[in-house]
Amino acid sequence: MTIVSWICSWFFSGISRTQAQQLLLSPANAPGAFLIRPSESSIRGYSLSVRAQAKVCHYRICMAPNGSLYLQEGRLFPSLDALLAYYKTNWKLIQNPLLQPCIPQMAVAQDEWERPRSEFVLRRKLGEGFFGEVWEGLWLGSIPVAVKVIKSADMKLADLTKEIEALKSLRHERLIRLHAICSLGEPVYIVTELMGKGNLQVYLSSSEGKALSLPHLLGFACQVAEGMSYLEERRVVHRDLAARNVLVGDDLTCKVADFGLARLLKDDVYSPSSGSKIPVKWTAPEAANYRVFSQKSDVWSFGILLYEVFTYGQCPYEGMTNHETLQQISRGYRLPRPAVCPAEVYVLMVECWKGSPEERPTFAILREKLNAINRRLHLGLT
Ligand code: AMP
Repeated sequence: MTIVSWICSWFFSGISRTQAQQLLLSPANAPGAFLIRPSESSIRGYSLSVRAQAKVCHYRICMAPNGSLYLQEGRLFPSLDALLAYYKTNWKLIQNPLLQPCIPQMAVAQDEWERPRSEFVLRRKLGEGFFGEVWEGLWLGSIPVAVKVIKSADMKLADLTKEIEALKSLRHERLIRLHAICSLGEPVYIVTELMGKGNLQVYLSSSEGKALSLPHLLGFACQVAEGMSYLEERRVVHRDLAARNVLVGDDLTCKVADFGLARLLKDDVYSPSSGSKIPVKWTAPEAANYRVFSQKSDVWSFGILLYEVFTYGQCPYEGMTNHETLQQISRGYRLPRPAVCPAEVYVLMVECWKGSPEERPTFAILREKLNAINRRLHLGLT
């Protein structure tokens, strides 16, 4: 069913109810135009939107436990095509004829990232995160990819949509790249480039990671600063920057990942009203205590990430509980300089941990300073 619906002209995978309404009422379409889209309120459902003269009617299509689809209780169909064929003939049951598929305008084109699930084969489980399992897979039999298999049971649909939207709009060499999504039916797949050496924290604490020398560590710091300056320019707050959310490629390039918590800033500071589990040891005090997240709280986390990098993946504030950490921070305690960390990098770390967010450097400045230290190191001046 997935492949059939994907190539059908009436299936619009990436649009909202409001966009469906705008499209169907546009001059390109006449009464009787219809489309089917994934439901915004139910992960397993779809919506049928039909133009009736000057308004649009929406019908919910539900999925029965055995995968059958129905618009009215008791009338089950094996696929969306079968359901549509039935209601085209028996349109009086929904009081609106289904005459022709909606004509898309250029502005609301089909979602270019949506791919049929059958194009992907999952081969090896790589790990597990908040949203579900991550698998190494092959796309079309040849392209290595990472596939995040979303567990829908304890996930809010709105969170997933935001993660996907954030991934789509952010493109940079130092950010993990989205390849495709499979959002028709379940489970939803988010397909990204595969990073052969996994997450930076685990990699650094492996025997291969522990053998890396200072220029490599500084290289990681510079690359993450690059990715984060791009996010800063785009006014995006990551909110969960940590070595576990940076991925390492076979060539030791690294990229910032996991935008599950990223949100586009409305003003300068994003202050969510509802509580959530936060990684306290990575989180700036104003964010941990008052949930005030900003680019400057990301800068604090970057300082902790630098500590992880120069300790080869050690856990910060080892032996302290979250509560003790927050207490110590408020009394002015800061992590010590790791043995291999150059003094000038430690100066930057401490600046990232200034109590007042405005006093912390920007990522643009951090990137510049780290690159300068890196260059000097390569010239043998440090
Ligand atoms: P996440 O749910 O994004 O936190 O991912 C969980 C774990 O899966 C990570 O800590 C990595 O070890 C692994 N992982 C996630 N994405 C990728 C990827 N694109 N390439 C390789 N490994 C990944």
